[in-house]
Amino acid sequence: MATTYIAALTGSNRRQVGRFVEQHGLTEIAASRPGPCPLRVPVTGQINGKPWRKHVDFNEAADLMRHLGTAATIILLYLTGMRPQEVQGLRSGCCPAPEPSDDGTEGQHLIHGHHYKNVTDDDGNHISAGEVRQVPWAAITPVVHAIRVLERMVPKGELLLSTAHHEFHSRHGYRGAMKQDTMAQRIESFVTWVNREAEAQELSGQSIPDDPHGALGLGRFRRSLAWHVARRPGGLIALAIQYGHMRTVLDARTSSGYGARSRRGIHAILDVETALAAADTAARLRDRAAAGEKVSGPAARRALTAAAQTPRFEGHIVPRTFARKASTFLARDGIVLYDNPDAFLICAFKHDNALCEPEPGATAPRQYDCRPGCGNTIRTDTHARLLRERADELDQFADHAPAPVGKRLRVNASRLRETADTHDSTAHTAEVLT
Ligand code: SF4
Repeated sequence: MATTYIAALTGSNRRQVGRFVEQHGLTEIAASRPGPCPLRVPVTGQINGKPWRKHVDFNEAADLMRHLGTAATIILLYLTGMRPQEVQGLRSGCCPAPEPSDDGTEGQHLIHGHHYKNVTDDDGNHISAGEVRQVPWAAITPVVHAIRVLERMVPKGELLLSTAHHEFHSRHGYRGAMKQDTMAQRIESFVTWVNREAEAQELSGQSIPDDPHGALGLGRFRRSLAWHVARRPGGLIALAIQYGHMRTVLDARTSSGYGARSRRGIHAILDVETALAAADTAARLRDRAAAGEKVSGPAARRALTAAAQTPRFEGHIVPRTFARKASTFLARDGIVLYDNPDAFLICAFKHDNALCEPEPGATAPRQYDCRPGCGNTIRTDTHARLLRERADELDQFADHAPAPVGKRLRVNASRLRETADTHDSTAHTAEVLT
C-alpha cells in the first residue's frame, strides 16, 4: 500500500492509514485490483510533441528525481571540464545571475566553487567547510540549467550533490556530498533507465549503446569534452554550436584572468587534443596531396608547406610534458591546420585573416561560425566530392519537404555544387603549388 501517498491525499497520518488498511483488508483488495498513484503535478515535458507521461506516479517519483539529479551531474561534469571532486564541492548559490555589463548585454554566468586544501583560520586551524575559490569557472546555458535543477533539490547553501537530499529515502544519516562510487553507479543506472525509456517510447535510435571500454565512470567526461571541442563532431548542429561555444568560453584564458593555476588542467587537456587533431589533419592533407589530389583555396600553398613540416602522431601516448609542447605547437599562427568537416574545408588558421572573429590572442578559429570567402580556407578533391554528395542528399530531402523548405534546401544544394565547381576550376596539384 502507498501509505504515504494516501496519507498526503486524505490529510491523515501514516499510522491512521495503516489502521484503516488493516481494518478493511485493503492490502488484499489493492493486490487484486492494483491502480496508479498519480501525483497532482502537471506533465509539461514532451517527446515528439506528446506528453512523455500521462501523469507522474508516486511510486516512480523518487527514481525520476534520482535520474534527474544524475542527468544534471553528467551535464556539470561534461560541459564544464571540472574534475569530479570539484563538482562534488559545488553548493547551492554557486552560480548567481550575472550583473548586466555596461553596454547592457547579459554577462557571463560564473560558477564559484569551494576548495578545501590548506584552508586555515587566523590561528592556523583547518577550516573543514573550505572557502570560495578565487578563480571561477565559466558556465554555458545547459550548465546553468543543471545547477538550477539541483538547487531545487537541496536547501540554500547546501552541497548540490548532498547525500542527505539525494539519498533522502535512505535510513542512514549520511553527510557530505555523494561519493564518487555512488555517482558512478547512478550513471550506470541512468543509462539502463534511458534505454528502457527509449524502448517504451519507441525511440530505439536514442538508446545508449554498450561501451566496449566498460562502465562510464566520472573521469572520462573531462577528456571527452576536450576531444569533441578539438574535433567538432559533424552533423549535429546543436552539439557543434555547444562545443564551439565551449571553446570560446575556455579560450577566455587568452583575454581574461581565468587562465590562472586552477584552470590549467582543462586547458592543457584541450591543447593536447587540439594539437593531436591538427596533426591528424596535416597528415591527411599530406596523404591526399601525395595521392595526386588537387588543392584549392587562398591558403593552399601555406597549408601544404605547413603539412609537410608537421610531425605525424602514430600513437596517442601523451606524456605530461606534451601539454606545454602542444600549446607551443598551436601558437604557430598561420601554419596549424584545423579540419572543418561541417564547412567541407581545412582552415589554415591565421588570426589576422580570420573572418570568424576569434577572440584577441586566440590560437584556434571559431569553426562553428566559419564564413565563406575567408583567406584561411583550403579544399582538396575529397572536399569537392563530399560537397557534391551533401548537395545530392539535400536534393533528396527537398523532394520530401514542404515547398518553402524544399526551395531553401535546393538553393543550399546548388551553392554547395558551385563551391565544388570553383574548387575544380582553381585547384592545382601540390607540385605546382609548392
Ligand atoms: S572563417 Fe576562416 S579562420 Fe574562421 S574557421 Fe572559417 S576558414 Fe577558419
